[in-house]
Amino acid sequence: MPDRCKQREYCAIRVRGIVQGVGFRPFVFRVARRLGLEGTVANDGRGVRICLGGTPEQMQEFVRCLEREAPPAARINAIERQPLESPDWAPGFHILPSAEDRAATTAIAPDLATCPACHADILDPANRRHRYPFTNCTNCGPRFTITARIPYDRPNTSMRVFPMCAACRREYDNPLDRRFHAQPNACPHCGPQLRWCDADGADLGGDALGNAAMALRSGAVVAIKGLGGFHLAVDAGNNAAVCTLRARKKRPHKPLAVMVADLAGAHRLCRISSQEEELLQSAAHPIVLLAARENNHLAPALAPGLGIVGVMLAYTPLHQLLFAEEGAPWSLVLTSGNMGGSPICIRNDEALHRLRGLADYFLLHNRDILTRVDDSVLRVMAGTPRHIRRARGYAPAPLPLAAPCADTLACGAAMKNTFCMVRNNEAYLSQHIGTLDNADTFDFYRESITHLQEVLACTPDRIVCDRHPDYLSTRYAQRRGDAVRVQHHHAHALAVMAEHGLDEMVLALVLDGTGYGDDGTIFGGEFYLCTRSRYRRLASLAPLSLPGGDRAVLEPWRLALAWYTQTLCRKSTLPLPASLTRIEAEKRAQVGRLLHRGLNCPESSSAGRLFDAVSALLGLCLFSSYEGQAAMLLESQAALATPHEKKMPYPIRFGTRNGIRRIETGAMGRALLEDMAAGCPIPSIAWRFHHWLAESCRGMTTLLRQEGIPAGMVLAGGCMQNAILLEMLVAGLRADGMQVYTGEKVPMNDGGIALGQAYYTGDGRCV
Ligand code: ZN
Ligand code: ZN
Ligand code: FE
Repeated sequence: MPDRCKQREYCAIRVRGIVQGVGFRPFVFRVARRLGLEGTVANDGRGVRICLGGTPEQMQEFVRCLEREAPPAARINAIERQPLESPDWAPGFHILPSAEDRAATTAIAPDLATCPACHADILDPANRRHRYPFTNCTNCGPRFTITARIPYDRPNTSMRVFPMCAACRREYDNPLDRRFHAQPNACPHCGPQLRWCDADGADLGGDALGNAAMALRSGAVVAIKGLGGFHLAVDAGNNAAVCTLRARKKRPHKPLAVMVADLAGAHRLCRISSQEEELLQSAAHPIVLLAARENNHLAPALAPGLGIVGVMLAYTPLHQLLFAEEGAPWSLVLTSGNMGGSPICIRNDEALHRLRGLADYFLLHNRDILTRVDDSVLRVMAGTPRHIRRARGYAPAPLPLAAPCADTLACGAAMKNTFCMVRNNEAYLSQHIGTLDNADTFDFYRESITHLQEVLACTPDRIVCDRHPDYLSTRYAQRRGDAVRVQHHHAHALAVMAEHGLDEMVLALVLDGTGYGDDGTIFGGEFYLCTRSRYRRLASLAPLSLPGGDRAVLEPWRLALAWYTQTLCRKSTLPLPASLTRIEAEKRAQVGRLLHRGLNCPESSSAGRLFDAVSALLGLCLFSSYEGQAAMLLESQAALATPHEKKMPYPIRFGTRNGIRRIETGAMGRALLEDMAAGCPIPSIAWRFHHWLAESCRGMTTLLRQEGIPAGMVLAGGCMQNAILLEMLVAGLRADGMQVYTGEKVPMNDGGIALGQAYYTGDGRCV
């Protein structure tokens, strides 16, 4: 065929992004075969390398197919093409073994929920994988959690100790099989196995799945080794079992997540939009916060006082098989297997030791978890799915940065910590690490930084951290060398800017918990004019006193009393609301003395603390047992307000102090007390407070706008996880002509701080 030979060209194509561990090579193989191209495909440290020989038309069509038909879990960031002199392959198209490469730059794929084909396999009595809990294929299964290093190949995973049997090997070697080069491929003959153990770890034998289902049905607490760590599970419809779990975990109120087998199960529990359905069934299968149905048969102790519940669909064959067992509960509480803020357990011996006394039984297996990853949490707000916690199914997929950014290690905040590594303009935001307030979590933090640094073969040019001197992340950064320090709420704004590729000056509204301010006070309700290197504080919420400092965060009644004493009763005397009379007179007098003398009463402009104060005044939450409790209870009440109750807005007042504009809270608070005294329903008051805050921020924005600030506006901070507030703000500000940007792929709470720190370009000085 002289004609074809004349036209034949050779080229090398490099594909970057999430292209390993997602069935990319077999996909390339099939496309090349279909188009009649010859050549090779291989994984290396920089992604996938394809060498091709064919006509220019064939090559062009090949690249089009790469973009159009890539496997569902793949994400292509770049396709680079270079000419090749001559072919160095045998006739035909071949998949080559992976090349070791120290300058590794490839992304590790996140873990993927079981695909429908594998789900069908495990339920089919005729299939050789019937009831096998470690079934997977190139489209699904564990990835990040079993990977020690890249390239992602079986010897670099915890599957290295399970040699494939002949049947599995045939699938693995057959390019037309769904399990072609599926690194964790296994079957009942050659792969990992379950073990059913009592509370002391003694092997009880028998059918592990059947026994686990029976134990759960009888109300036992079962520790289940999952994908990214251990869970503690109980029947979600059994209130006594849920209360036992709460008592053992010393977690009295914090909402617990529920797992169900499928979408039908989720619909029995919650009202679900099509957008939420899609999210529940996405490749990550995250926990989605959904509006609970009344009489949904869930244990009342599951999420006391809250109108929303976190729901996820079974995402591994193990979970799916458990639900398929005869007599198994149809909904299970699945909460992370840990104690008192420690990281989630991943090793069998660790779980048997640390969860002793918490679990009645252990459902173990012998596939090692190499990287600890919690369940991700998302919520659809203002029409968009948004991360509350970014972990399983998402980490460590890199976020491409639209604007240039130096190679950086950003150390994050203290609560909901994540860290962030930037390399080649891609931001690798770590999985959720947790609150850095204990030695175990701090060890997990340091190990994870070392691990990611090794995997990425990256030495950062600079280290960035928070300005708070006492954060363990700040101390870690400073021990590593010269660290640049960024103000907490500037970092919140920068995280949203990074996500949307904003490189110009914007107005930022940050409504948050607490963060270290520049003037000795605590910030948290701020209007900043900011760029990537500096910010100016234009306005804030009027400050509240925090009598007792951090204790006021745990005891919102202290905030309510401070607000009542210092602001609401300054001009007129109003009777002490009934909620506060529930606190002993002596305790109230103590706080009164602190306030009177100004002793240990730091001031805070935090929006989170204002939510706490209102929630306490209404008697919803006088003592808080988990972060955000008071605000979440208030939001749940506001969601119950009827249109009729939404009239009569609270008065909006602005002031100025030291050249900084202020949203005053006194007139609103007094109107709120009058409503309470008049016996107005709590949902109505709660809704009016949300409306007041949103309208005040909108009014302040209009005021600032008149002074010539830009129309680009960023919303950030932990309070933006409040759906009612966020929806009011986005709608109102957009109606006023603002170009509003919000966090979507990155949490707006402290879990996104690290990305913002990485995006910072200043020198750390206060400006
Ligand atoms: Zn599959
Ligand atoms: Zn096998
Ligand atoms: Fe914060």
